[in-house]
Amino acid sequence: MILQDKVALVTGGTSGIGRATAIAYAQQQAKVVVVGRRIDEGEETVRLIKEAGGEAIFVQADVTKEADVEAMVDKAVGVFGRLDIAFNNAGMGGENPSLIEQTEAEYDRAMNVNVKGVWLSMKYEIAQMLKQGSGAIVNMASVVGVVALPNILLYTASKHAVVGLTKAAALQYAKAGIRINVVAPGAIQTDMFEAVTDEAKAYLTGLHPIGRVGTPLEVANAVLFLSSEMASFTTGATLLVDGGFVAQ
Ligand code: NAP
Repeated sequence: MILQDKVALVTGGTSGIGRATAIAYAQQQAKVVVVGRRIDEGEETVRLIKEAGGEAIFVQADVTKEADVEAMVDKAVGVFGRLDIAFNNAGMGGENPSLIEQTEAEYDRAMNVNVKGVWLSMKYEIAQMLKQGSGAIVNMASVVGVVALPNILLYTASKHAVVGLTKAAALQYAKAGIRINVVAPGAIQTDMFEAVTDEAKAYLTGLHPIGRVGTPLEVANAVLFLSSEMASFTTGATLLVDGGFVAQ
C-alpha cells in the first residue's frame, strides 16, 4: 500500500479521470477528499470508495472561486489533520474552433477553470504543505499542453499554461520538500471525450499510434506514481500518458 496514512485531495473527483484517481488513491489506503461542484456525483465517488472499504469525504467547491478553494483545503485539514497529496484535475474543454469567432466569455471560461483553478488550488495546498515540510502535487494538463492542435485553441493555450505553472512552482518549492509534476494525457474515454462529435472522436482516436484512446485508470496509475514516494526524485516533470501521440 503505497499511500498508507496519506491524505489526498482530488479536484474534479466527481467523474472521469478524477473519480478513477480518487478510487485508486483509496485502494492504496489514502484518505481521500473528493472535490467538485456536483453534489450527487461527488457523493457517488465517496460511496464507491467506502463500499470498497476506503475512507473519503466530499467537499463541494468551484475551483475558480478563491473562497471555495481556501475552504476545500481547510476542510481537508480539519477532517483528516493534514494534506499530503493533491491532484489538481478539474478542467473543461469545448470551444468554437475558429479563433475569429471565439468570444471573450469562452476565453475567460477556459482560462478560469483550467489555469486559475490550478493556480488557486496550488496556492492553498502549498501553504499547508509548507507547514508540514512535505507534499506531492500533480496537475492535469493534456497532450495539447505540450504540442498543439489547430482546432482546440483556447484549451491548448490553457494546458500549456498549466505545464508552465507546474514547472515554475516545482522550482520554487523544490527545496521545501514539495514535489510538483503534471500529467499530459491523450484522449481518454470520459464524459469530456463523449461530448465531441463522432467525426472528432474518429479524428482524435487516429492521432494515437497505439490505435485507441486511453482509459481513466491508465491516467490514474500515472498520477498514483507521481503522488507516491516511488517518484521521490521527480519534480517539474511532464508525464505523457498518450499512447505515443507526442512521439510521432
Ligand atoms: P470530466 O468527467 O468531464 O471531468 C471534469 C471534472 O472537472 C469534473 O469532475 C468536474 O466536476 C470538474 N470541474 C469542472 N469545472 C470545475 C470547477 N469550476 N470547479 C470544480 N470542478 C470542476 O472529464 P475528464 O476527462 O475526466 O477531465 C478531467 C481532466 O482531464 C480535465 O482537466 C481535462 O482537461 C483533462 N483531460 C481530459 C482528457 C480526455 O480526453 N478526457 C485528455 C487530457 C486531459 P463538477 O462538474 O462536479 O464541478
